[in-house]
Amino acid sequence: MSQTQWTVLGAGSLGCLWGGYLNRAGFSVTLLHRSGVSAPESLYLTPFQATEEVAFEAKLKSAEQCAPGSIKQLIIATKAQDALTAVAGVEHALADDAIILVLQNGMGAQQAVAEKYDRYAIVAACITDGAFRSEPGHVIHAGKGISRVGALNAKGKAVESAVVEQLKQMDLVIEHCPDINQALWNKLAINIGINGLTALDQCLNGELNDPERLAHVEILCQETEQVMQSLKLQIPEHGLFGLVKDVINGTAKNRSSMLQDIQKGKSTEIEYINGYLLKQAKALGIPAPENQKIYDAVLKRFHSANAL
Ligand code: NAP
Repeated sequence: MSQTQWTVLGAGSLGCLWGGYLNRAGFSVTLLHRSGVSAPESLYLTPFQATEEVAFEAKLKSAEQCAPGSIKQLIIATKAQDALTAVAGVEHALADDAIILVLQNGMGAQQAVAEKYDRYAIVAACITDGAFRSEPGHVIHAGKGISRVGALNAKGKAVESAVVEQLKQMDLVIEHCPDINQALWNKLAINIGINGLTALDQCLNGELNDPERLAHVEILCQETEQVMQSLKLQIPEHGLFGLVKDVINGTAKNRSSMLQDIQKGKSTEIEYINGYLLKQAKALGIPAPENQKIYDAVLKRFHSANAL
């Protein structure tokens, strides 16, 4: 058992999930919640397929309550659109040799953190687990997946193996991923194929098998494939459409994270999913009209003019 410390920024679903599993593995955990928002009164984790929840321990505080230089290992567990602001809020507390682990979905937020905070070791995790909160501080591990972990910058490269060894002590599937960029792109491609359409049609992942919807999924995958090929990234053997169809069938009864966000009245991560693809496509001169259509429609329907 280790008493090594991890500070988790964002006491949401994934922050509580990782905080809970880290604490159960013997780590000392600090969970940073938003300032001015009351901290959860108690912390409970329902491990995957468990019938009962178990209590876990974490110090609860806000970023400004952290002493200068006190954070050595930081996990950013906010939504993508909140990540940069959240890191700025704890910058004063980062030790000179701090490690920052970014867990966001999509792409762009992790890279923005890596660029702005390049003086620190930055490591990313690409996560396929599913978790939700039944109430504040109570998290349920609903879907067992894999977390692929790898460095985003040179300093991260020097510590990634040590970080992976720590994370492997959790009762989660953790895999060292020397090419995290490729893993993030593969997951991005899946999110591009599924998230926007399920949010707009308010349907379950499996309902994308409807032939009309599947035709849109195919075009989204073709556009993504062109961008990935141009960036010299690997395309799965059976193509992105094949990959996305496998995920649609394997998660047929699930609600995508974007559908869940809009049903809770929250802003979506569209800017970091189809929005990221569009930025890359534009820079490469590749047309991506289907992605543009989904991006525009999600912004128009679910985001206020100033939301992003
Ligand atoms: P979430 O439940 O909304 O949690 C995010 C938390 O961060 C919220 O509690 C939010 O507070 C907090 N936060 C935002 N800015 C903050 C700040 N400046 N200081 C302190 N706390 C701050 O979202 P999530 O589901 O955990 O997702 C987090 C990331 O993981 C997303 O990128 C998501 O796509 C990815 N992910 C999630 C899952 C999953 O199953 N949940 C799986 C894989 C990947 P407010 O609620 O007050 O905004």
